[in-house]
Amino acid sequence: MKILIAVKRVIDHNVKIRVKADGSGVELTNVKMAINPFDEIAVEEAVRLKEAGKASEVVVVSIGEISSQEILRSAMALGADSAILLQRPADMILEPLDIARLLQQVVIREQPDLILLGKQAIDDDCNQTGQMLSALLEYPQGTFASQIIIENDLIHVTREIDGGLETLSMPLPAIVTTDLRLNVPRYATLPNIMKAKKKPLEIMNIVEMDFSPLGQVKTINVSEPKKRSGQCTLLNNATALVSELKAKEVI
Ligand code: AMP
Repeated sequence: MKILIAVKRVIDHNVKIRVKADGSGVELTNVKMAINPFDEIAVEEAVRLKEAGKASEVVVVSIGEISSQEILRSAMALGADSAILLQRPADMILEPLDIARLLQQVVIREQPDLILLGKQAIDDDCNQTGQMLSALLEYPQGTFASQIIIENDLIHVTREIDGGLETLSMPLPAIVTTDLRLNVPRYATLPNIMKAKKKPLEIMNIVEMDFSPLGQVKTINVSEPKKRSGQCTLLNNATALVSELKAKEVI
């Protein structure tokens, strides 16, 4: 079984985001970047499936500038076998449907049995790409997976939904998007970081592919959230809270 994982390069989740003065976006210069945390969980899951003998090959793919090579190397240090970078020019803006259209081309070429994506990228918080890819390919989808079990030709995906947990059984090939509780990714060891440098990384230039971006979504302005006004008061117990709410005529 071959697994393909889509990984995105995003601002490291520990970094405090700064908005550019002209409101055109967030500051990326000299900012620490990392693999999207949900995508790292997807890589970990694929590597575990390989270690358990359920998968034979793990391929990671990223769409981004040439700098996205770093996160592909990180994914290979975690255990992926090879990587593909679809390199985009710095000024090419790709919305989730474009990413899904490009991933569709990779899937058609690579023919994976299972495609893993993060449930969302922590920079745009779109939570759309996996669902769109599933629609384009007409593959079954299991989103927000907190457990994955592969049995014969079926994949059982337990998903976290409002009312609790739901388990879906789907034939392969299928698309699964990962939630936080699926696993805790391992740390890459130094020998594996060194080994990853020698693993195959193919670079394809989007400009040379049969693809043009849709350009349906335009960012008008990016601004920081409003500062919270007022002070935070710590109350000792529920009775004090009720009196306070009554005093403020909230209840
Ligand atoms: P989104 O729909 O933008 O929240 O992204 C959901 C998932 O799609 C991510 O967790 C990744 O697995 C995948 N994805 C989004 N953008 C990219 C990208 N540029 N390259 C590779 N995978 C991506």
